[in-house]
Amino acid sequence: MYDILLVIAIIILTTYLFFKLPKLTDVLVWCGLRTNELDAHVKPPATNGEIVTGNRLRQGEKGIGQKSRLHMVNKFENMSNGHDSSAESDEITHVDTNGSVVHDEKDNLNDMIKAYSSIISHVGEDVNREGLLKTPERAAKAMLWFTKGYEENFDEVINKAVFDEDHDEMVILRDIEMFSLCEHHLVPFNGKVHIGYLPNKKILGLSKLARVVEMYSRRLQVQERLTKQIATAILQAIHPAGVGVVVEACHMCMMMRGVQKINATTTTSCMLGVFREDPKTREEFLSLITKK
Ligand SMILES: [Zn+2]
Repeated sequence: MYDILLVIAIIILTTYLFFKLPKLTDVLVWCGLRTNELDAHVKPPATNGEIVTGNRLRQGEKGIGQKSRLHMVNKFENMSNGHDSSAESDEITHVDTNGSVVHDEKDNLNDMIKAYSSIISHVGEDVNREGLLKTPERAAKAMLWFTKGYEENFDEVINKAVFDEDHDEMVILRDIEMFSLCEHHLVPFNGKVHIGYLPNKKILGLSKLARVVEMYSRRLQVQERLTKQIATAILQAIHPAGVGVVVEACHMCMMMRGVQKINATTTTSCMLGVFREDPKTREEFLSLITKK
């Protein structure tokens, strides 16, 4: 009798540990055996240089490191979900690929908070006014969220969603919501992305098209580059006969300042392969995305 109870207890305990224990990769990262899981998957920039998968450090800039930045964003997400983990100490000093010591996570967030405090006082506000007390912190975390695309890399986004398929008709996903930040003014631009491609034995999971848009738009961008990066990414992922990407967006920097053209929409397109070479294919794509 006791034997059976013991076996049941062991089974329950094992199941509990299995689900509760952190993943082995996390343990390795904590132990310093693997410095950065993301780094291991990041490929060098694509041959045409259009796909930017690297983080700021690898690009030689003085950034905050992919891992620490990711932690900061995750921390923010946890806070938004009501689980404030800011009390946890995470005082690891990271060393970048050039061997320079990188600020730790808290220092970086604090630097951003100070920078936002400075901006607020420089526009003539009182940073100690009640309504603004937590604004620098919120703004810093929001900025990390708006630029979280730097943390994602193409291979991870596409991961296992390339399927062999003999489908040879055009695949179109239109009206994908897009929010980005104009890299010239750091104000938002947003709109819709339409993607079409003509498969060549391979197709891409439809949700991945939206993920690719998200990955490139959550960075400091210009609409022209965003359009080209999305098209090039799809071309590299599944080598279709052709790709077409059209982005329609409204730029707050135009609407709120300068020329104040409230209703101006900027349209950019990138046509590759048969979409570029064959006017009929291109027309078919353009008519399908504008069809009501
Ligand atoms: Zn702008």
